[in-house]
Amino acid sequence: MTVRGRFAPSPTGDLHQGSLLAALGSWLSARRQGGQWLVRIDDIDPPREVAGASQRILASLKRLGLVPDTPVLFQSQRRPAYDQAFEALRQENLVFPCWCSRQLLASQGGVHRDGHCLIGPQTDRAPAWRARTPDEVLHFHDRILGPQQVDLRQTVGDFVVRRVEGFDSYQLATVVDDAWQGVSEVVRGADLLSSTPRQWLLQRWLGLPHPDYAHLPVLLDAQGRKLSKSSQAPALDEMSPADALRTALRQLGSPAAAEIGLPPAELLAAALSMPLPSARSRLRDTSGN
Ligand code: GLU
Repeated sequence: MTVRGRFAPSPTGDLHQGSLLAALGSWLSARRQGGQWLVRIDDIDPPREVAGASQRILASLKRLGLVPDTPVLFQSQRRPAYDQAFEALRQENLVFPCWCSRQLLASQGGVHRDGHCLIGPQTDRAPAWRARTPDEVLHFHDRILGPQQVDLRQTVGDFVVRRVEGFDSYQLATVVDDAWQGVSEVVRGADLLSSTPRQWLLQRWLGLPHPDYAHLPVLLDAQGRKLSKSSQAPALDEMSPADALRTALRQLGSPAAAEIGLPPAELLAAALSMPLPSARSRLRDTSGN
């Protein structure tokens, strides 16, 4: 089977050194195995979307020489597929409507574990729909972090599959599209590790294959916070594409490749022989930003 990796940014800001790590890590992994690499824009959350971010992310990837093998998929175009998956879950009674507020959940330790709404139907507002998460310890393997085990009921709980506003959740859209696009491996930041058990469960319920998972160390800023679009990480375009790639290669544990003074396409070709990091270590941002 051909390996298929993907990079799936949300257009909540421009590409930055933290998200480049996921882009480059997924690209390197797929390409080193002779596989394909896809880009998907996860634009299913209009309130969080930043105008023009999708096109700027795609332009940055192009400048960096990270070119997908198939046309870019936009999740905003895929609503009917998510509706169908949601209906299948509803038919099987695997999801339930829930009117519980954030405050109520916070008073319960932040995790909804009951398999039914704690306050019952409310007529004045729409419900969110939650997965009826089973009482089970889930085991899965992460290629970087090793064997993982997660107590679904205690730590994950009844997670949201369709939001109050009527939007499909990131979890549902991701499993539907990863399967539809034939994605065989997911290489992304370790900040998404807690999403993997949710996605694993949805894949099982929907009869979809489980891709291989590899979660990369997350870049932290000088204060030890995740470097992210929402923490106003500087846009990559302030650096030359080759410098941005070199920084990302160093962060991925390929210092040798990072030292080669080549333009992006040749730098990427040279980097293909370098391994992905195997350590759990959390990297400090070394970009000097
Ligand atoms: N769209 C998600 C994000 O930008 C990542 C999706 C994924 O890699 O599963 O955080």
